[in-house]
Amino acid sequence: MGLEIVARKSLSGFLDLTGHKWLLQLAKTACRVHTVTLFLPKELMMLKRRTLLTGVLILVLSSFGQAQQKEKSSAVPTPSAFLGFEVGADRKLADYRQITSYFKALAAASNRVEIQVLGKTTLGEDMFMAVISTPENLANKAKYKEIARKLADPRGLSSQQIDALARDGKTIFLLTCNIHSTEIGSSQMSMEWAYNLATSQDPEILRRLNDSIVLLVPSLNPDGEIMVTEWYRKYLGTKYEGGEMPYLYHHYVGHDDNRDWFMLTQIETKNVNRMVYHEWFPQFWLDEHQMGENGPRIYIPPNADPVAKLVNPLVHRGNNLMGAAMGWRLEEAGKSGVIFGYSFDAYWPGGTRNTGWWKNMYGVLTEVASARIATPIEIESTELQGGGKGLTTYEQQINFPNPWPGGTWRLRDIMDYELLVSGAALETVSKYRQELLRGVATMATQAVQTADPNVYWRIPMDGQRDPVTATRLAALLLEHGVEVRWHADKRLFLIPAAQPYGRFVDEMMGIQRYPEVRPAANSGILEPYDVAAWSLPLMMGVKAERVSITPDVQNSSLQLQNVTWPVGGLASTGKYYSIAAHQNNVFALANAMQAAGGQVYLAQKTNETPEFIFAANPQLAANAEKFHLQLQPRADLPQEATQLKQIRVALYKPYIPSHDEGWTRFLLEQYGFKLKNIENKEVKAGNLNNSYDVIILPDTTREVIVDGKEGRGGFFEEFPPEYAGGIGKDGLHALRDFVDKGGTLITLANASDVIYGEEFNLPVRNALASGGATAGRAATTTSDFNIPGSLLRVYVDTNHPVGAGMPHEIAAFVDSPIAFQTSAPPPDIQRSVIAWYPDDAKDILVSGYAHGAERLQRKAAAVAFTRGKGKIVMFGFRVQHRAQTEGTFQLLFNAIYWGGM
Ligand SMILES: [Zn+2]
Repeated sequence: MGLEIVARKSLSGFLDLTGHKWLLQLAKTACRVHTVTLFLPKELMMLKRRTLLTGVLILVLSSFGQAQQKEKSSAVPTPSAFLGFEVGADRKLADYRQITSYFKALAAASNRVEIQVLGKTTLGEDMFMAVISTPENLANKAKYKEIARKLADPRGLSSQQIDALARDGKTIFLLTCNIHSTEIGSSQMSMEWAYNLATSQDPEILRRLNDSIVLLVPSLNPDGEIMVTEWYRKYLGTKYEGGEMPYLYHHYVGHDDNRDWFMLTQIETKNVNRMVYHEWFPQFWLDEHQMGENGPRIYIPPNADPVAKLVNPLVHRGNNLMGAAMGWRLEEAGKSGVIFGYSFDAYWPGGTRNTGWWKNMYGVLTEVASARIATPIEIESTELQGGGKGLTTYEQQINFPNPWPGGTWRLRDIMDYELLVSGAALETVSKYRQELLRGVATMATQAVQTADPNVYWRIPMDGQRDPVTATRLAALLLEHGVEVRWHADKRLFLIPAAQPYGRFVDEMMGIQRYPEVRPAANSGILEPYDVAAWSLPLMMGVKAERVSITPDVQNSSLQLQNVTWPVGGLASTGKYYSIAAHQNNVFALANAMQAAGGQVYLAQKTNETPEFIFAANPQLAANAEKFHLQLQPRADLPQEATQLKQIRVALYKPYIPSHDEGWTRFLLEQYGFKLKNIENKEVKAGNLNNSYDVIILPDTTREVIVDGKEGRGGFFEEFPPEYAGGIGKDGLHALRDFVDKGGTLITLANASDVIYGEEFNLPVRNALASGGATAGRAATTTSDFNIPGSLLRVYVDTNHPVGAGMPHEIAAFVDSPIAFQTSAPPPDIQRSVIAWYPDDAKDILVSGYAHGAERLQRKAAAVAFTRGKGKIVMFGFRVQHRAQTEGTFQLLFNAIYWGGM
């Protein structure tokens, strides 16, 4: 009888259930551990529980002698024995430091496990992965990495050589867990799975390990795992048990840590990206998540529609093979509620494994239903719901053949489903090892052969508005493992379309047109999963074009290992130095010099790009060099120069966490702004002018800011009292008072809702909102207006201080139904339309998807008001969306500087 790990139960948990505690004692005595691993023949899983138990007892008793011997000889601790509590039990969680110590112990005791540190996290933890395989494979890992690298870029290899590499190589299988910190099951599961792989003597498991090298990342966001575990433990046993945290579970980006995989702004993303695309070149990436609690129990591939045009279809074939194995093994083990073709599309490139699809990598997502962190939940059958793509109502369908009937759902269930899919994945990558390895090479070859060898993406350094950002784009592509060349004489970055990652390059550099897939005639289109545009040159404000390059230019260019940044410094000596304000880094320099006590001036003349002027200072040269900016000397200050003071910026932080708050904080810190978070209490207390010059309200709703709740009405879970509520009426009055006394208030996207009310009483409304002239947030539905994250053409008034130094025409990132309608103000108020949409709807969309764009025609996209010395700036689009839209960062920087004048 072939043995198969189909279930691993803690014996104590199993026997508590049946009341046979005596056996637990026996087991503990026999094995000197708290739990015992059971290997159940899969046939037994089909039997009823009572029959099953009898079978299990016989098996356990007959295998005790063997188990005892194994434990003694290897001395490999189980996670539960090592940590001193039952991993996966209700209300028990291992935090990341415990997980780390377990993996270290496992690696010390087992010659099948090694630890690789990937780098530091944002908050300074060591981020690691376990490398798991046979001792022989681990001893030869350099050889297998090299094979994987060659298959990822097989240029110059014959098909015989590729076959030989596929035969001799091992599948590099990356399994990543817990990028979303409240989706905690996989971090706990990772220890059990690693233990199983490290100790199993099952010939089938040993064969799989011999075929593969498993790269197991127990958490892609260690800081967040620690935050969530601490929060959970703190409120255990209270009415807040298992509830939401009032802050983001990543220091900067929270849940958006899985929106960063093409822009690579965060340190954790960079760590993993480096390991994947520069070191190990895994062929298969499985990323395990959790989803909502009221629907299916697990999502497995195939993905839902739509499909990205440029992804090689072989990727989906491989992913679907994996999905089939997962579904098969889950069903076989009696797990219900398995769905595919649901919710998660095959179009968007922003998440972990998705980015790899364009780089010829197989990559799969699984999503298991959640509990309340480690607290079980009880779901009534009447509460089970469909919704979204692929399951309109909660009914049996071919992609959902065995609906879960409702009942108790706990951490242990999540981990059991995850153990099964992890096992099925390893089974698949082992079974199809040679096909997968050859598949990667086939896709890479096709990417090269289907592209015109003379076509390149060309990024000229001359004529760029912001050469540093243009260089950053080239650097980002290099970081992605893309081949980037440099032509020194012509000062061009050249990126060949014909290269293994060529389709990734085309996806990121080109424009998007969202495919309008209708699941049935007369139905609406399938909505995008996330945003609909990611055209890097447009978002970053960089000139780039896809053109044919002559062979002599190609041949006189050099392949880069690193980019050369523009040389910064002082051209010669002077009393003052100046630079035009049309590069993002100019603001970093101005902030750095003010922080260093230097004198900084801003000179602005109508119809001219403003200039920053710096008085000579011992730190100026080093900073100019650091920020890659060349400063020109000048003898004196122009008449229009105004000396700047260091601006005190407050960024409002709601207790219902705002990703935009985190991203804004990240961005402004990167550029050296003097920034502080303010929370409800401080806003309500008033007298804000004493501490701040500028207050920024990040993109979130009026309800979140004012009331501390999401949505209007309905049930909401309360936070502990210290985090309850919003700024309230008092806070709104305090903000108005701040503006009246000369402060500057900046609202980002939906935060503009706080301005429409009586507190501010300004002649502006959102033309896309229903319900009267001063109504709050947009009630527009997606059937008449849907712009889910697209780049739209917007014109800028470059004579306004907020638009100064910007190009007249920009690509603005829009993801909310906001279009400002202003009207003529009374004499004490000045109103400026800073940015506006084109007159003709057909000119509006640049990249992505826009339905109902005509409603934006001739509407304002950004406006400003002044009343006395006070200012309000309202941006309807996302000037700094996820730290990706470098082309519009300056609008925010300008608004802050305007506030400081
Ligand atoms: Zn997730």
